[in-house]
Amino acid sequence: MFRSDPILIVGGGLGGLTTALALARRGRSVRVLEGAPEFGAIGYGIQFGPNVFHVFDRLGLMDQVLAVADSPAAVVMLDALDGKELVRIPTGATLRARFKYPYIIVHRVDLHNVLLDACRGSAAIELVADAMVNGFEDRGDGVVVTTADARTFSGPALVAADGFRSLFRAALIGDGEPRPTGYAALRTIVPMAELEVDVPRDRVVLWGGPGYHVIHYPLRHGALFNIVAVFRTATHAERADAATYRAELEHIYRDAHPSVHALNAMMDFRWRRSVADRDPVRHWHQGRIVLLGDAAHAPLQTLAQGACMAIEDGLCLAETIHAADGQFAAAFRRFEALRLARTARVQLESRALWDSLLHAEGIARDVRNATVSGWDETHMFDCLTWLYDGASFPAKIGH
Ligand SMILES: Cc1cc2nc3c(=O)[nH]c(=O)nc-3n(C[C@H](O)[C@H](O)[C@H](O)COP(=O)(O)OP(=O)(O)OC[C@H]3O[C@@H](n4cnc5c(N)ncnc54)[C@H](O)[C@@H]3O)c2cc1C
Repeated sequence: MFRSDPILIVGGGLGGLTTALALARRGRSVRVLEGAPEFGAIGYGIQFGPNVFHVFDRLGLMDQVLAVADSPAAVVMLDALDGKELVRIPTGATLRARFKYPYIIVHRVDLHNVLLDACRGSAAIELVADAMVNGFEDRGDGVVVTTADARTFSGPALVAADGFRSLFRAALIGDGEPRPTGYAALRTIVPMAELEVDVPRDRVVLWGGPGYHVIHYPLRHGALFNIVAVFRTATHAERADAATYRAELEHIYRDAHPSVHALNAMMDFRWRRSVADRDPVRHWHQGRIVLLGDAAHAPLQTLAQGACMAIEDGLCLAETIHAADGQFAAAFRRFEALRLARTARVQLESRALWDSLLHAEGIARDVRNATVSGWDETHMFDCLTWLYDGASFPAKIGH
């Protein structure tokens, strides 16, 4: 029964769609079940390191991605109290020469649409929207899922790319809710023409302050401006009205540079999230079900690599399934072995830098500022080599 069915992918985010494309390129048919009424993304900015282009290149999507993306002039970190530049990662020709591919900033909707268009162009991929999976059974020779509207789908294996609050992670790993950090995040996008604050508009800028940061960069070839504010607060998981949120923001950022205040004044309070991540775990599969992307290893956004890891996972998993000639247990074990140390390092380094680099306060801020004062381009590139050089993808098993 199951052998002839398409492989099931639950979740049509960046990880799920990349997996679908990579499997289809290897001749496998797949069915992607997405819980939202339509396939799509929430509109805000996302950054991608050069490592993700190893995947886009292999999938033949370089031109399409570059057409909707921009390369920032640099990624810089400023001290949010006095505005001094602390760290600079050049993202122009020298980065490209060192890591082969560019660093980009892109509207998530545009990137999502590149992947969706490619999926729609493949006869091997079926996209099923409005299919919120609420139950599943691994029957040994295949997996059957049910959706909230009582449909059932079956497949020889299932890839759970269902994100941060994964139904499948809850069942396979059972480690409860994501780990809250005590921080909340706000984000907004404004037309560039309406931006009156005197800040650089051609690069990624991160203002690191005591218990808070703000990050901003342009989108859509300079037409839009993306701002994210992240701050420690006892109310990170609570709901309140805009006036309460605004008063809280002004209080928390009271010592910040005037430009940071002006950026925060543009914040939209409708999207406010508690910031959380996951502890690394060693195994992401059970039987014929495997977790991928945030469902397997959600990091904090410090290194801007969560989506990059989900995309790398997608290619790696498809290649392990192909290399194992569809022997899913062997493929899933190999996938975990290839991906564990890299994704866990992203999770753990993101946590460590969250406190020591982004949010240092008091004497720790002095220590940070003294430490980073010696970081030049060579040092930055050396530190990022493990990440930006890209992941290992499997060769055929037995060859
Ligand atoms: C503020 C912020 C900034 C970030 N910036 C960056 C960045 O610059 N660069 C970067 O690489 N990463 C960044 N990330 C991380 C990135 O957003 C995630 O790591 C990435 O979206 C994970 O992709 P995914 O496909 O695993 O999961 P998701 O994108 O969460 O997709 C999961 C999909 O599954 C669907 N789904 C869930 N449950 C079900 C179900 N039961 N049935 C059917 N469908 C279901 C959802 O609707 C969704 O479409 C950032 C995160 C945050 C919060």
